[in-house]
Amino acid sequence: MRILDGKVTAAAIRAEIALEAAALEAQAGRRPGLAVLLVGDDKASQTYVRNKERACREVGFISEVHRLDAGISQQRLLDSIDALNARREIDGILLQLPLPAGLDSAPCLERIAPHKDVDGFHPQNMGRLMLGLPGLRPCTPAGVMELLKRHELSPAGQKAVVIGRSNIVGKPLAVMLGAKGPWADATVTICHSGTADLAGLSRSADFLFVAMGRAEFVTEEMVKPGAVVIDVGINVTEKGLCGDCNFASVSRVASALTPVPGGIGPMTIAMLLRNTLQAYKAHTQAQQN
Ligand code: NAD
Repeated sequence: MRILDGKVTAAAIRAEIALEAAALEAQAGRRPGLAVLLVGDDKASQTYVRNKERACREVGFISEVHRLDAGISQQRLLDSIDALNARREIDGILLQLPLPAGLDSAPCLERIAPHKDVDGFHPQNMGRLMLGLPGLRPCTPAGVMELLKRHELSPAGQKAVVIGRSNIVGKPLAVMLGAKGPWADATVTICHSGTADLAGLSRSADFLFVAMGRAEFVTEEMVKPGAVVIDVGINVTEKGLCGDCNFASVSRVASALTPVPGGIGPMTIAMLLRNTLQAYKAHTQAQQN
């Protein structure tokens, strides 16, 4: 069985991004800039933000973390987003989710200027994804697609099953897989908490994508022999971090599988950097014209 190592792949992508950013800096007169808004003191969010900051530093981007009090009002949070929207040297804005209780993420995500929306969650970018138009794509599903491509695993013409229908993973991933193109073109089924016969459907998949948030839920009985399995899940358990697949069990039947950690997690951050570079290129071109 092939282990699809996201750590190694993401490191290669970061190296490419660093080279491109260094080459562009001379013309643009500035480096790409990412601003992260972190509201409250959620432990997992703090770790994610630290990892994003480190990745930015590694590729030579400027990164700012704005730490806001959990008690901030919705209006003050919107004002913080407006301030970042207005700054020319900030190319990407990321609002770390989940927000503390009492704050509504939807109007905040909609407030981020779509051209700075490096998480790809703004309705405009989601709509552009749906329509097959260029735009900033959600990082986790983009990371899944990039990992497949870089391992030359094409889902074209294959049966793909996505377990999970969230706005940040399952739904956009299903759209990307079913889009027209050489590294897509799959026939996609979306499964969710209302699905009858989940195991039967997942066993029919040539390519199985699991984004449920249920530790080690998927076992070999749910996987077709020879299937490619992408485990997006990150679950904190007593034993440490684990995915939505039982790695030992699934690896007995799958032809390829992502590890957790070290699979889609690092790919997600690499795609955040790629989106920031894409936004920077658009901004600096517009600023030069
Ligand atoms: P979510 O809770 O928003 O969605 C989970 C989905 O799984 C839902 O659509 C639900 O219908 C489905 N589901 C749950 N239990 C089910 C069941 N028993 N049968 C069928 N479907 C079921 O979660 P999310 O934000 O999409 O995240 C999913 C997982 O991916 C989590 O573990 C999360 O931590 C992880 N994640 C990882 C990354 C990364 O960078 N690797 C990024 C985002 C999320």
